[in-house]
Formats: sequence, structure tokens, C-alpha cells
Amino acid sequence: LTLAGAPLDASAAPVPYLDPARPVVERVEDLLARMSLDDKIGQMTQPERRSIAPAEVARFKIGSVLSSGGSAPSPNNARTWADMYDGFQRAALGTPLRVPMMYGVDAVHGHNNVVGATIFPHNIGLGATRDPALVRRIGAATAEEMTGTGVDWDFAPCVCVARDDRWGRTYESFGEVPGLPSGMTTLIEGLQGSRLGAGPTSVLATAKHYVGDGGTAGGDDQGDTRGSEAELRAVHLPPFREAVRRGVGSVMASYSSWNGVKLHGNRYLITEVLKRELGFSGFVVSDYNGIDQIDGEPGFTRAEVAAAVNAGIDMVMVPEKWRAFIDDLRAAVRAGEVPMARIDDANRRILAQKFRLGLFERPLADRRYLDTVGGAAHRALARRAVAASQVVLKNDDDVLPLDRDDEKIFVAGRSADDIGRQSGGWTITWQGAPGATTPGTTILEGIRRAAGRSRTVTYSEDGSGADPSYDVAVAVVGERPYAEYKGDRTDDLRLTGADLRTIARLRGADVPVVVVLVSGRPLDVTSELRHWDGFVASWLPGTEGAGVADVLFGTSAPSGRLPVTWPRSAAQEPINLGDGKRPLFPIGAGQTYDDDD
Ligand code: BGC
Repeated sequence: LTLAGAPLDASAAPVPYLDPARPVVERVEDLLARMSLDDKIGQMTQPERRSIAPAEVARFKIGSVLSSGGSAPSPNNARTWADMYDGFQRAALGTPLRVPMMYGVDAVHGHNNVVGATIFPHNIGLGATRDPALVRRIGAATAEEMTGTGVDWDFAPCVCVARDDRWGRTYESFGEVPGLPSGMTTLIEGLQGSRLGAGPTSVLATAKHYVGDGGTAGGDDQGDTRGSEAELRAVHLPPFREAVRRGVGSVMASYSSWNGVKLHGNRYLITEVLKRELGFSGFVVSDYNGIDQIDGEPGFTRAEVAAAVNAGIDMVMVPEKWRAFIDDLRAAVRAGEVPMARIDDANRRILAQKFRLGLFERPLADRRYLDTVGGAAHRALARRAVAASQVVLKNDDDVLPLDRDDEKIFVAGRSADDIGRQSGGWTITWQGAPGATTPGTTILEGIRRAAGRSRTVTYSEDGSGADPSYDVAVAVVGERPYAEYKGDRTDDLRLTGADLRTIARLRGADVPVVVVLVSGRPLDVTSELRHWDGFVASWLPGTEGAGVADVLFGTSAPSGRLPVTWPRSAAQEPINLGDGKRPLFPIGAGQTYDDDD
């Protein structure tokens, strides 16, 4: 027998846990029996890459490292990601027990932290496609791009049911009714494959944020979801049930509270409901510094560490304060505040996924897949997804499609020629940024290519120069990039003054105007809509703007349907299917070019 923590003797007979022919449970038990308390606590600890060096990963037997949104090696390209990954992994493999680490990122619409990766539409656009098979393929493509860089764990999909469009994470939702996120849990099958470790590109998926993140009062990010347990179960739980059914390997706890109690400390919902009732056998990871919030005071205490682990959180995302976390958890175990059985259970769950993923056998980046990052096949898939996500909401006098051979088209708007805007948050940086942040095709470039030689395309960002000699004007306007956090929760869903002025210039030219809205949620267009001839919700399409042009020109028939109820104004929020309010457009709205009306 090997003593806990004692080094393996390489000359001895093969150790059971290193033998891939043995069943996962056997390997887990064999390895667990060799681990010290510190080894086990290390597995439960997830620091951020900027606050830990490979040597410390080895010294503290760290189970996982993450890149938070936009935290990338320099220069930011797929190859340096692979090098960084291998650096951490080699350190982990150099420890006595050689337990590989896992590397987690938010690849929430493609491998979006990596410059040059294919950026797919954000979830709200995918919800509009109503196409779970397409979403499964997007998951598989994302997994391939991740595999080339070594990254084996994706903090996706977000299966939140977004109930209030003022919430800044609305675009991370597939839709406002539970059936939409539930249906799109096919993304998990795309990421993981038919089962975890099914093939060389299988990565660990995460259903997040458990549970009720999209139901907070007022659309507050990290806020409080109020209501009965029956409501929570009817609206917010179903996508998790479905994610578990599809074999999701991990679940992330939500920053939000349920009736005033932070999810990170909620033993009933995490252990009783998720693990026991739903039968979730993977592991639960906390959100970023999520354990800080349990007692409402900044920073975490030993009591919060114990509360989170006892509630059923198995791995704790402690980006910077991981040393304090390790000390606190060790002290809590020694003081009997966290039972050893809980530590073992957490380790069993984590280690089982590492074995299933094949990490002990194939620990390093699989560089054969580096070429898939931003590759032509994935971009073509993304373009198809973009086309399928466009929702045509108005098309007076068949202004669309732009199918006349000699059409003169005037394009304007701040979102027309801007990869950063059309990709939104979680693109290269956490919050995203306007500008040419990563290679791709802007909507304007897509329009120019689709127009070919016979049509004329003229562009001015603010619409100046538009005149009646044009057949049609296309205004591409909308939101600037943003991501989670208090700042993007808004009471004002109206278009900006600049966008309204741009559209007004086009209308002043006395030509039909088509408005293409690039946004993460419905905006208040109620008083303007009657002046527009065409209106298309484009959501946040990502790098393949040609897909928008495909619909504008009719090469792809529009088929997208609203995944959310479109309010008349922010004052109607929250507004959802079946609540009796009169929206501007109901969920499910969306025309195609064959429509008679
Ligand atoms: C977000 C999560 C994300 C995590 C890691 C948090 O702030 O809420 O969705 O997975 O950061 O980047």
C-alpha cells in the first residue's frame, strides 16, 4: 500500500489508477486512497492564471486553473494558449501522484478569448434559430478549437431563463421560457461528445448558473430571485434537469439569491435538489469569488468556505485568494466544520471527470486541432447560424430581400462595420469592445460581397451623404458591447441619440429604410418603428457578418423567431409569455419572405 501523499515508485507494478483499462470508479478509489488532505484540498481549488505560476500549481496540487473573461497569454493567439496550457499541465504532472489539472474558460460563443477564433452568435441568437441540432454542431466546433489550445473545460452553456430584458446577461440566455434553454442543452453534447471523453475533442461542459440567475427582481445582476419553490421549479430548474439528463459534467452555482439566501450557501438546492433529486453525478463549481457573497460582507471567511463546501460546492473558483482558501478549508476540516466525507465526495466527483476526459492518458494540448481555430469550416457553420438567427419583424412592401440586380444600397450605422460591436461582450475581453478586435467579416463587408458588381453599395457611418438616388438604405445600429456586472443593468432600452440621428438622416433622403438591430436584447423601438420599412433583429452575430447579408439579400430565407417577448418599453419589464401584457412583438414572432402580409 502506498502511504497518503507518498511518491509513486516508477519501477513497481502499474498502479491501478493509472491504468485506463480499469473502470473509472476503481481508478478514483485507488487514487483517493493515496491522497493526503492537502492533495484533496488542492483538487478543490481553482485559481486564476494571473495569480499562480506553474511551480505553485505543482506545490499546492492545484486541481484547476482558469482564465477569467479576456485573461489571455501574450501574444494572444491559439499557439501561445497551447504553450501556456502545457506549462501548467507539465507542472501538475510533475507532482508525486501526477494528477493532471483542468483548464477552464468562458467559451460562451466559440473559443471567444482567443484572437482568431470563430465567434458564433450569442445564445439569444441561437435561441432564435430554434435549431438544437445546429447548436450541437456549434458545441462540437467550439470543442475542436478549444482542444487545439489544450483548454479542456468550458463554463458553458448558460441555461438561464432570462425573465427581464433589463438584465445585462439577457443575451447569454437562449430564451425566456424554460423550453428554449432546455432544448439548446444539445450544446453540451456538442462540447462533450456522446459522453465525456468520447473522442479526442471532448471537453467538459458547465450548465450555469444554478439556479434562478435569470429571474432576479428588477433584472439586477447577482440579485434576488423571489417566489415559491413551485415557481423556481417550473421556470428555472427545467434546463438543469435537461442538462443533467444529457450528461453535463459540471454545474456552476449562481451569484444570485433565492428569497434572500445566496445560492452558494444553499445546501437544499445544491445537494438535495441538484445532486440527489436530479441525480447530478458531476461536480459543482462556485462562481468567481462567489463564496465571498454568502454572508453579505466583502471577502470570504472560514465560515463561508465551510458553508459553501458543506452546501455541496465541490470546486471553488478563488481567483486570487486561493492560498487563504486552502488554509481556511484545511483548518475547517481539522476543526470538524467540514466532514472528511464531504472532501472525499468532492474529490470523487472531480477526479471521475478527469479520468473520463482521458486527461491522465492525453494530458497535453492536442496541437493537431490548432488549425481548426477560426478555420473555414467553422466560419461557414457560424455564418449559417447567423443567417438562421435573424428575425425579420417588419417588411413593408417587400423592401426585403434586396434582390434587384441593379439595386443602389446605402449603408449606415455604428454597428455596420465593427466586429467588436457585432460580437458583443465575452469577446477577446470580458466586456467586449468596439473595433477590429479579432478577424472576421463585418456586416458591411458581408453586404458588399453579397451585392456583387451589379449593385452599388455606399457607406457612411452616420448616414450623412444619403440622398434620394438610392433604392434602399440599411441602418445597422444597436448596443455597444457589455457583459455582466451592475453597470449593464439598465432602465433605458431606447436607441442612442447617435443611432436615432443616423436613421433620421436616411429617412430624410426619402428612401425606404431597413433597420438592422445589433443588440443583446430587445430595445425600445416603439415610437420609431412606424417610420421604418424593414426591421431585422440581428442579436449579436459574432465574427461572421456575411450571415446577416445572406438574409438581407435572400440567399437564406429568414427563419428566426423571437426567443423573448419584445416589450413596448422598459416600463413593461418584466414581460414574458402568458403574463397578459401587450408586447410590441410576442415571443415566436418572425416573418419569412413568403409571408403574404
Ligand atoms: C461569471 C461566470 C463566469 C466566471 C468565470 C463570473 O463572473 O458570472 O459566468 O463563468 O466569471 O469567468
